Amino acid sequence: MEKIDFKNIVEQLDSVVLVVDYDYKIVYANSYFCSLFNTNCEMLSGKNVFDFLPEKSDTVVIKDYTYKITKYDDEFYSYYYLTIVDSQMEKVYSDFISTVSHELRTPLTSIRGFADTMLMSFDKLDKAQIQKFLGIIKEQSNRLIKLVENLLSISKIQVHQSNLVLKSVNAKSQIEQVLDIIKNQYPSHPFEFHCNDNVPNILADENKFQQIMINLLDNAAKYSYDRGSVKVTLANAQKENYVSIKVEDHGVGIEPDNLSRIFEKFTRIENHLTRKTQGSGLGLYIVKNLIEKMGGQIFVESSTVLPNSGSTFEIILPAATYTNQSKRALEDK
Ligand code: ADP
Repeated sequence: MEKIDFKNIVEQLDSVVLVVDYDYKIVYANSYFCSLFNTNCEMLSGKNVFDFLPEKSDTVVIKDYTYKITKYDDEFYSYYYLTIVDSQMEKVYSDFISTVSHELRTPLTSIRGFADTMLMSFDKLDKAQIQKFLGIIKEQSNRLIKLVENLLSISKIQVHQSNLVLKSVNAKSQIEQVLDIIKNQYPSHPFEFHCNDNVPNILADENKFQQIMINLLDNAAKYSYDRGSVKVTLANAQKENYVSIKVEDHGVGIEPDNLSRIFEKFTRIENHLTRKTQGSGLGLYIVKNLIEKMGGQIFVESSTVLPNSGSTFEIILPAATYTNQSKRALEDK
C-alpha cells in the first residue's frame, strides 16, 4: 500500500493545526499557524500553547478575524484546530475581492487609456511619445503578470513544498538576471551588486528564487525616492552552510511597530510612497512563505528616524552542500 504522507496533508488543510503535549508545550504547528502568528515554525516547539490561545474560550481573535477552536485529546497529545467562523468568511472574501480588483483595475485602466490615446491620435504623436506610451503599457503589463504570479502563489498548493523543484542554483547569475529586469523598470535608481568570493550555490527552486528577488528588489526601489540607491550583497551567511543575500535601500523605512505586520497577507503600511505606488500587500507574505519552504529565513532591519535611512532585508538559504541535499531528500520522503 502507498505510504500516506499525513504531514503534507495537514500542511495543506485550510485550518490551523496545533499539537500539544500533556505539559501544554507545542510539539507541532502547521505553516498556517506559523504564518498567522508571524513566527518561524522551528521556534515554536516547546512554547506554551496558552501564549497563543486563550485558556478558557472556544474562540480567539487573530488579526481581525475570529477563529473557532476545536480540541481533541488522546492518550499523549491534544490536537487544536482553528477555523475562521462562518460569519467572518464574508469579510475574508470582501477584503480579498476589494484588494485584487483594485490591483487589477489600476494597471488595466492605464493600459486601456494609453492604447486608446495611441489609436485615436496615432498620426499626431511623435516617435518619442509613442515609445513612452508603449513603455508604460509594458510596465503596467509586467505589474499584472507579477500580481497574477503572486495570486497563484498564495493558493496553498502553489506554495506547498512538494511543488518546489529544489536543486543547486547559482544565486549570482540569478540575481544578475533579476537585476537586469528591475533596472529596466526603475531606470532612475542606481543598483549595486556585491558578490563575495567562494559563495557556494544555494539549494533552491530557481523560479521561486527569482520571484523572491523580484519582490524584494521591486519593493526596495518602489519605497525609495528617485535616485535612491539599492545594494544587493551575496555572501556566506553567519549560520554555517547557509548563503546570505541582503537587499539594502535608502527609502522611507518602516516603523518598528509595523515590522511584524509587513509579512501578513494583503497588508500595506501607510506611508507617502504606499499611497503613490501600486501593490497588493502579497509580496512579502509570499517571499517569507517560499523562503521557509526552502528551509531558509528572512530578517528585516529598518528605520524611519533619519530621512532615507531605509531598510535592509536579509534572506538566508541553505547552501547546496552534500549534507543539506541529503537532509532535504530525507525530509521530503
Ligand atoms: P506591496 O508592496 O504590494 O504593498 P509587500 O507585501 O511587498 O506588498 O509589502 C508590504 C508592505 O511593507 C508595503 O506595502 C510597504 O508598506 C512595506 N514595505 C515592503 N518593503 C519595503 C521597503 N523596502 N521599504 C519600506 N517599506 C516596505
